[in-house]
Amino acid sequence: MMEQFAQVALPVPLPKTFDYRIADDQHPVVGGRVKVPFGRQHKVGIVTGLSSTASVETSQLKAIDTVLDAQPVWTPAVYNLLQWASRFYHHPLGDAMGAVMPTSLRKGRPATLQQQKWWQITESGQNQPLSGLSRAPKQARVLQLLTHGPATQADLIEQDIGAPVLKTVAEKGWIAPYSPPSQANAWVKSFAVTEEKPTLNHEQAMAVATLNASDGFACALLEGITGSGKTEVYLNVLEPVLARGQQALILVPEIGLTPQTIRRFERRFAVPVTVMHSGLSDTDRLNAWLAARENQAAIVIGTRSALFTPMEKLGIIIIDEEHDPSYKQQDSFRYHARDLAVMRGHEENVPVILGSATPSLESLHNAKTGKYQYLKLTQRPGNAVTARQGILDIKGHHLEAGLSAPLIAEMRQHLQQGNQVMLFLNRRGYAPAMMCHECGWLANCQRCDAYYTLHQRHQELRCHHCGHQKRVPPQCGDCGSTQLISVGVGTEQLESQLGELFPEYNTVRIDRDNTRRKGSLEGYLADIEKGEYQILLGTQMLAKGHHFPNVTLVALVDVDGALFSNDFRAPERLAQLMVQVAGRAGRASKPGTVLLQTHHPEHTLIQSLVHKGYQAFAESALNERRQAWLPPYTFLSLFRADGHEENSVQQFLQQVRQTLAASPVQQDECHIMGPMPAAMAKRAGRYRWQLLIQAPSRKVMQQWLQVALPAIQQLPLSRKVRWSLDVEPQDL
Ligand code: ADP
Ligand code: ZN
Ligand code: ZN
Repeated sequence: MMEQFAQVALPVPLPKTFDYRIADDQHPVVGGRVKVPFGRQHKVGIVTGLSSTASVETSQLKAIDTVLDAQPVWTPAVYNLLQWASRFYHHPLGDAMGAVMPTSLRKGRPATLQQQKWWQITESGQNQPLSGLSRAPKQARVLQLLTHGPATQADLIEQDIGAPVLKTVAEKGWIAPYSPPSQANAWVKSFAVTEEKPTLNHEQAMAVATLNASDGFACALLEGITGSGKTEVYLNVLEPVLARGQQALILVPEIGLTPQTIRRFERRFAVPVTVMHSGLSDTDRLNAWLAARENQAAIVIGTRSALFTPMEKLGIIIIDEEHDPSYKQQDSFRYHARDLAVMRGHEENVPVILGSATPSLESLHNAKTGKYQYLKLTQRPGNAVTARQGILDIKGHHLEAGLSAPLIAEMRQHLQQGNQVMLFLNRRGYAPAMMCHECGWLANCQRCDAYYTLHQRHQELRCHHCGHQKRVPPQCGDCGSTQLISVGVGTEQLESQLGELFPEYNTVRIDRDNTRRKGSLEGYLADIEKGEYQILLGTQMLAKGHHFPNVTLVALVDVDGALFSNDFRAPERLAQLMVQVAGRAGRASKPGTVLLQTHHPEHTLIQSLVHKGYQAFAESALNERRQAWLPPYTFLSLFRADGHEENSVQQFLQQVRQTLAASPVQQDECHIMGPMPAAMAKRAGRYRWQLLIQAPSRKVMQQWLQVALPAIQQLPLSRKVRWSLDVEPQDL
């Protein structure tokens, strides 16, 4: 018999597959998992090919340990998507596959649904007179419940029946284990709309009609202000899809996965809804994933990585809050879930809807140029009014912990009327720096190019970049003076200042420092809703997904940082935050006010945003991007490198630059910028540099990288420094 070999993609940072020998009694499948020896370890990988020849001397080849799957892990569409993404992001296939697989599968556990334990009543059980069990009421209850049909052990336990009771009744022969028929596709027969639907307004009806008309792949941008009924449109578009027996995949941002959103889908349809997010246990995640693959779940709602959930009968993909930065994976396999969702829709030939109140400039550009359908919702049902927006010029004003006198006065007014007030400050800690009042010395982290943040409550200096922390020193590190003062304002300082300014009101702070404990964020949010706090203070965390109808004043305490950032996307993010909070402030009976404090009230971005709205802002921002040759008009990739020796880091990127410049693909419209130090030039003792490249199209960028990367990987320095490539980076 002819010898057989398998090509296996392994979770290692090498851009290649590995050959293994297949034993006669082993039957690996392409797309299925195998466990193989690798160096001194054993790894779980995916078979990407089977052949009768191997790429190396076959006598050296090791054999597969175990074949783990008899069928592929992913559906063909997701498998192809992963292959495509691995090429597009230039990330090794095995590593990409490992990154998006449920942990249990990565560890080699079986890909079978953990069947729930079911019980049914036996004939002898049916013949038991319940009256004879008056001294064992729980046993009677078991029999009573099961006369209606089989039930899961979990359901019975929920009815306050303990496992020992079940054991006793089973031993008496009155109940027995039951194996339910396969649940795949089962929901299709019982599909129903289970709540009264509101009558759609004209814009919603138009959007639904347009979306329902698309047959096969099409991408639509649904731009609708908060509360304009985007979710209602999703629900209406889902209905015919589910009625046909097809599944829906809905992506939401990391933090937007609120129980309310999930409940709205559950309430509308009598179908199983599966939720996938990072908080699930390994087993729950695997079960959710398998339920989706086998069409036991009709609707899958999840965060970024849920995009790769295989679904037997996918019918539609919806990306809510498509502009949210959390859709971009920021390390290792740096994919953008929104961009890949469009690719997946194409691969599966199903429609894709991108929804947002503040679309990304990329998606807006695609909508304006006709690449996407462009649907708008501009009205809010009912007679909700939009928030009043204003600019507070704080040039030369005295500030109390960052607050100007007019803002404090405005706050007092809203609080006295019994409303809530929300303040945003994107800087946690007490103060972003600590300085010597006599000589100007600043306490800075030895391992990073950064100042320590002062955390007064814990009497600590903490580096927010490497995590290093130490006690606040009693004296200046330079001149020995004891006059150490804080510089700037962080949330912790603002919180204590608010306590002094408004002693009669309760303040709650929401930032990463005090929501670390699991469930604490949910606890605070619930208390806010109950009205236990009148002043809400937080970082961006506070803005996302939460609805606080009693908040009538929102203030952005300091927006200047975003106006003058190195990152060309900072103004876009600020605009999105502003619109988001403006949309959440107030309601029909209590109109909201949004104020921002700045030293640059005349800045065009601020002017167009506040006086003309997001559309006008986006228009002028797109213009700026075009003139500056920035995305979406060009395409960027970023090489990052870091190491303990600054020289080799810089030199490596210099060589990358030369390699790229020597490429025949390099054209007039291609540019290389750098090497230059990263925004944070030193972090945790490592020097960080970067090299930015720009191409006129994705195609040219791909060709350029494809030709240059093999040569870059051969550079001797590429093994001495840590480096990565970020295709279409979101943060510069
Ligand atoms: P969005 O997702 O754009 O924020 P939602 O779909 O959540 O908007 O709608 C906001 C609120 O308005 C919800 O309470 C929703 O039930 C209600 N709503 C949406 N569309 C309609 C409609 N056509 N008629 C009445 N109420 C509606
Ligand atoms: Zn540090
Ligand atoms: Zn000093």
